[in-house]
Amino acid sequence: MSKIPRVAVREQDPLERAHNFDEVSFGYNREEAILEASRCLQCKNPKCVSGCPVSINIPRFIASVNADHMEEAASVIAADSSLPAVCGRVCPQEIQCEGSCILGIKYEPVAIGKLERYVADWARKNSYSTVAVAPYNGKKVAVIGSGPAGLACATDLAKAGCRVAVFEALHKPGGVLVYGIPEFRLPKDEVVAYEIDQVQKLGVTIETNVVVGRTVTIDELMDREGFDAVFVGSGAGLPRFMGIPGENLNGVVSANEFLTRSNLMSAYSPDSDTPIYVGKHVTVVGGGNVAMDAARTALRLGAGVTVVYRRTEKEMPARVEEVHHAKEEGIAFKLLCNPTSVLGNEKGWVTGLRCIRMELGEPDESGRRRPVEIPGSEFDKPCDVVVIALGTVANPLIARTTPGLNINKYNGIVADENGVTSRPGVFAGGDVVSGAATVILAMGAGRKAARAILDYLKIS
Ligand SMILES: Cc1cc2nc3c(=O)[nH]c(=O)nc-3n(C[C@H](O)[C@H](O)[C@H](O)COP(=O)(O)OP(=O)(O)OC[C@H]3O[C@@H](n4cnc5c(N)ncnc54)[C@H](O)[C@@H]3O)c2cc1C
Ligand code: SF4
Repeated sequence: MSKIPRVAVREQDPLERAHNFDEVSFGYNREEAILEASRCLQCKNPKCVSGCPVSINIPRFIASVNADHMEEAASVIAADSSLPAVCGRVCPQEIQCEGSCILGIKYEPVAIGKLERYVADWARKNSYSTVAVAPYNGKKVAVIGSGPAGLACATDLAKAGCRVAVFEALHKPGGVLVYGIPEFRLPKDEVVAYEIDQVQKLGVTIETNVVVGRTVTIDELMDREGFDAVFVGSGAGLPRFMGIPGENLNGVVSANEFLTRSNLMSAYSPDSDTPIYVGKHVTVVGGGNVAMDAARTALRLGAGVTVVYRRTEKEMPARVEEVHHAKEEGIAFKLLCNPTSVLGNEKGWVTGLRCIRMELGEPDESGRRRPVEIPGSEFDKPCDVVVIALGTVANPLIARTTPGLNINKYNGIVADENGVTSRPGVFAGGDVVSGAATVILAMGAGRKAARAILDYLKIS
């Protein structure tokens, strides 16, 4: 077994990065990547591959890195992933490939995500691309939404020779990759725009500012515009609120709006026409990646920040790395606390958050221990802004304007594991089906749906 310790990745100093939006992690250099790759055992039954939702041939790409054959490594990854520089940065590897890595039983797992990032960045910097496209097969497919699900589906369909048009409601493509995940975790121009550009190079067109269900309906796309099939990857962008008193005070904002204003409307820039108010202290409610992103963004905008979460750190759904980075940067955590009301002044502005302390009871349906209120333990936490990061559901617009498309009680489209919906020719995948999940699961769903669409169109 490899006794070489896992190669640490270089990062910006926490005190410095708390004041800028530059990327936190510098990633590996060539020597570090080769050394880390040399730790891989090249297992005969590589558990890392079954832990990867898009089944990248991980040992093969790592062997190529170890041999310093970066073109080969990039080609192996490109066979299964159209967004490797994104996934290398934001995938929860600790519960996927790295969580299954055999080396991790006794030592630290191979840093598969950091190696994927290194290879993808190498390919970008060296303009290396290998993807081949089959000749046009006479079929047209519309993809709704340009997030990871839509982009992965569009990539596989274009490679198979379909003419693919992506329709995106916002003015920039990328879905959560551009409007949700902040620049300091995922650089927009350098990484996301480049990977979207690679998808467009396959012949995929992306039309922005098209709200399907308003600008055009699915029926019109199929009947009037001649699309043979439609894939819906419209995500789950509708925020959930707590339903507690004071939630409509000025200064209460959903994490989605807060992050969209910062990421997509450049509110962090002093020249922005649409700045965000953060005041002196921001309280973020929630414990997922969205909460960590909102908290770290508020910190960079100059506020002191506290995260309030009703369970303990162990149950937090956020990536371990993100919680660690947030703590290093100076974000305070109030765990086992739940808000009961938002407090305000006579002018209608937030002055604080009333919380109650919690303890953990028996496990609930999610398997995590249920938080239970401790009677009489309320306390007030002064703040100027409250950011709610308690999850999102799908927007019902598409389902409401598409007769015969079944949805569930969370507005999500009902589809089977291959993305087949109740409407013939209409497929769906990603967050709009699963509810808010992860980039790689959305990509996996987009790829499965692409295969189902090719079967439906009788393209082998
Ligand atoms: C702040 C934040 C941080 C996250 N961090 C991570 C992380 O670190 N790691 C991770 O793996 N996952 C993370 N996630 C989750 C991950 O980003 C999502 O699971 C993933 O993006 C879902 O992909 P999708 O393609 O299904 O949807 P989305 O990325 O939401 O894309 C859907 C797209 O469809 C468009 N759309 C919606 N309705 C219409 C319409 N009617 N017409 C046309 N277009 C429409 C939307 O504008 C959007 O661009 C995070 C999510 C958020 C919000
Ligand atoms: S499980 Fe770990 S050690 Fe084995 S092949 Fe995969 S990355 Fe290498």
